[in-house]
Amino acid sequence: MYDHAATYREQRAAFHEAFERVLSRGVLDWGPEVPAFEDEFARWLGVEHAVATNSGTAALKVALLALGVGPGDEVVTVPNSDIATTSAIHHVGAKVVWVDVEPDTFAMDPGRLDAAIGPATKAILPVHLYGHPADMPALRAIADRHGIPIVEDACLALGSRVGDAPAGKWGTAACFSFAPTKHLGAFGSAGMVVTDDGALADRMRLLIAYGQPRERHYSATPLPLRHLADGLNERLDELHAALLRVKLPHLEGRTDRRKAHAARYAAALADLPLTLPSTRQGAVHTFRNYVVLSERRDALQRHLHAAGVATGTPYAPPLHLQPAFGRYRLERGAFPVAERAAARLLTLPVAPELTPDQIDYACERVAAFFAEDASSPSPSPTS
Ligand SMILES: *Cc1c(COP(=O)(O)O)cnc(C)c1O
Repeated sequence: MYDHAATYREQRAAFHEAFERVLSRGVLDWGPEVPAFEDEFARWLGVEHAVATNSGTAALKVALLALGVGPGDEVVTVPNSDIATTSAIHHVGAKVVWVDVEPDTFAMDPGRLDAAIGPATKAILPVHLYGHPADMPALRAIADRHGIPIVEDACLALGSRVGDAPAGKWGTAACFSFAPTKHLGAFGSAGMVVTDDGALADRMRLLIAYGQPRERHYSATPLPLRHLADGLNERLDELHAALLRVKLPHLEGRTDRRKAHAARYAAALADLPLTLPSTRQGAVHTFRNYVVLSERRDALQRHLHAAGVATGTPYAPPLHLQPAFGRYRLERGAFPVAERAAARLLTLPVAPELTPDQIDYACERVAAFFAEDASSPSPSPTS
């Protein structure tokens, strides 16, 4: 699915230079790399402020805290996401209200949002799943009508766009993950939360760093220790910021390779009994995952596994059917669109460091599955 060592080899010298720069400077905390990375990332994305965190989960948690979400509040999100989306809501003390998704993009269905909003709703948290953005103009219109902020979970969608604006520009705040397998992958855990609201950015900066104003650490003259909030320690470290600064200029090229792999799949798999990913008019899909739907998903997955093709099933079963959230007492059938997708979806390898030959091999093995299937006798009714 991934080849992190190949990515390392491609930019080995630049990684070593960054590593050497940070270690020989000897400033491992409150150095120049984190602010520089934040500025470069904000400029790349086209937002006013970026606050570097030590994970996407931390970014979600800090965005919610800074917006004042807490006990007694509800946050509307979707059940077919990384558990971090829902856990972040719980970890600030709020309650989750899941809504079902669109069948083609797997993202929050704007047609179901209104009914999920109530007097306790404090934020709306759509997820841009697999690299395809949610229908942000429609979600924004509803959120604005209710005066409720949107926090985008853009952890899978760095570089995706809706119309003129990138994923990350539509909400009051937006969260990104730099986990190794995301679009901009760190060598461990890292993340970012962005906003155009300066006061919100200041609150988030306090919250990720013990409630201390950052300025103190960059002041030429000694400043007294001041804790302005009951903060967390969710900051990014200098070494990671330096390594991510090496990777950021290569992000667009790597995303283009994902798109090229996706186009290769689309051409090779077009005539097979699979539902291939679609991209909504006006949207840019950045293919963190290449997701197909098959009525014979489990057999196809076993066949590909035996042929040495890695696959995945993110995120099945959906969160409302996971033991961790049994307290919501939601049964199968609560979110039929998400459940139907979860029972059929399969991701194929699409990482940028993979070669076109590797993608072709995956395509051949998928085609072989359906060819064998067509030539073998139908299963007996009792099987
Ligand atoms: C990866 C991911 C997260 C969590 O990010 P981490 O960096 O792993 O904490 C949250 N939401 C979604 C949709 C993700 O894919």
